[in-house]
Amino acid sequence: MTEQRRIIARVLDKARDHPDVEEVHRRAVKVDDKISLSTVYRTLKLFESKGILERHNFGEGRGVYEIAESEHHDHLIDVKTGRVIEFQNEDIEALQEAIARKLGYRLVGHRLELYGEKTSSKKGR
Ligand SMILES: [Zn+2]
Repeated sequence: MTEQRRIIARVLDKARDHPDVEEVHRRAVKVDDKISLSTVYRTLKLFESKGILERHNFGEGRGVYEIAESEHHDHLIDVKTGRVIEFQNEDIEALQEAIARKLGYRLVGHRLELYGEKTSSKKGR
């Protein structure tokens, strides 16, 4: 069990995308085919409760995961392809802090998800 957990942790650490439970399972099974989907599910829940993992619901209600990094970022989700793009923007950060301050709060965190359609580029034509 501990070894399986370690494998799942390694899969997540290597992920540069935002995999859901099934995808994490698919990758973990390549290392150890005895890892069950329910083990992956339980392990992700555990990591989430410990603050190691962050869970997102990008639109369709499907939970996806990523390692909770110290480096904050927000997400833009392509509504056609489901592709997730990470970005950071100082102006947005400052604006959110200003809004909270105006309402009498000190901002301790936020979640921002943008949903978009890719505009046609030269390459796409
Ligand atoms: Zn992310």
